[in-house]
Amino acid sequence: MTANLLDYDLEGLVSLCEGLGEKRFRAVQLFRWIHQRGVSDFSLMTDLAKSLRQKLQASAVVQPLTVISEHLSADGTVKWLFDVGDGNAVEAVFIPEDDRATLCVSSQAGCAIGCRFCSTGHQGFSRNLKTGEIISQLWHAEHQLRHRLKQSDRIITNVVMMGMGEPLQNYDALLPALRVMLDDHGYGLSRRRVTVSTSGVVPMMDRLAADCPVALAVSLHAPIDSLRDQLVPINRKYPIAELMSACRRYLESAPRDFITFEYCMLEGVNDQAEHAKQLIALLAEYAPPTGVWCKVNLIPFNPFPESGLRRSTSAQVTAFAKLLNAAGIVTTIRKTRGDDIDAACGQLAGEVKDRTHAQRRMQQLRTVAIHPARALIKPVKEQV
Ligand code: SAH
Ligand code: SF4
Repeated sequence: MTANLLDYDLEGLVSLCEGLGEKRFRAVQLFRWIHQRGVSDFSLMTDLAKSLRQKLQASAVVQPLTVISEHLSADGTVKWLFDVGDGNAVEAVFIPEDDRATLCVSSQAGCAIGCRFCSTGHQGFSRNLKTGEIISQLWHAEHQLRHRLKQSDRIITNVVMMGMGEPLQNYDALLPALRVMLDDHGYGLSRRRVTVSTSGVVPMMDRLAADCPVALAVSLHAPIDSLRDQLVPINRKYPIAELMSACRRYLESAPRDFITFEYCMLEGVNDQAEHAKQLIALLAEYAPPTGVWCKVNLIPFNPFPESGLRRSTSAQVTAFAKLLNAAGIVTTIRKTRGDDIDAACGQLAGEVKDRTHAQRRMQQLRTVAIHPARALIKPVKEQV
């Protein structure tokens, strides 16, 4: 069977190379060619012995996902849609900011959790992505942007697993992908700059803490079980008390000393003063004796027709944030980015999944103009 080398972390590649009778340092060289230089053609890997290149040509490929379309927003956000077969697509979104450049990566085609306000959740679950399909999104984005901007230095400084899917329900593929992101021979991202976002798969939060602690975001969205049961159905299996205890445990090995709680603001559903008070009480109940242990990120809901939900007014979001801040909870309001290209969770890929229109839609997407780089990329500051 032909191996796709994007499926391997460095240790995996070392074993594969050893199986071909090659030493560890050869695997390191190969890994660097693939991830640091974005090269997929073995014949261009000039410092590898010819015999190894021939062996690789016979038994392996570097096969990234195929890009269906690319959309560039006026604010510099870039969104790629990748074909994952069977009429499914996943997306990755690049978000340049003054002091960082973040890539939002997908972990599954669809999602089995089925949150009320999420368009990916409404699509249902198609399949888990493989490690190579997860890392492909970063490989493509990083090297495409470098090429286009004629830059040899690293462009993407942060990765957030906040695209389509629940990363902790695809743990076996996620783990090697995270290792490639963190590896100094790979993308060399610090643990603090790789964030896994979860709806609260409690046992897997503990495993992540043990295997590969990275920054953690938890999609809370409601301060009490009766409401969270409705919005985030996995709450029926792992209710808020269990989730909060898991967060506290996670902090013991986390690279950052806080957890980010995400809270999607839904008009009249979870955005009232009483919800803010309940949230304050909840976070106080689980707070350690001293210090800031969590931050709250309020996300303005990105509406889609089937949800039957509305975005809270900005006055309501601000009022909610004020209540939390007044209680000493560090609260931010997420800026919406790339609105003109639907760069929010699951939006565009959701339309592709609609099989009745898939062909027509795919055709339209292929004809979307691809602009030369207008991305507003600023010089990247040193990592902290
Ligand atoms: N499955 C993971 C990660 C992917 S979703 C999780 O749920 O955390 C990434 C974030 O986008 C989550 O916080 C999710 O709640 C939020 N989100 C999903 N649909 C949204 C929408 N329509 N508007 C705003 N935020 C949304
Ligand atoms: Fe899945 Fe996250 Fe969407 Fe919920 S919000 S359905 S967990 S992708």
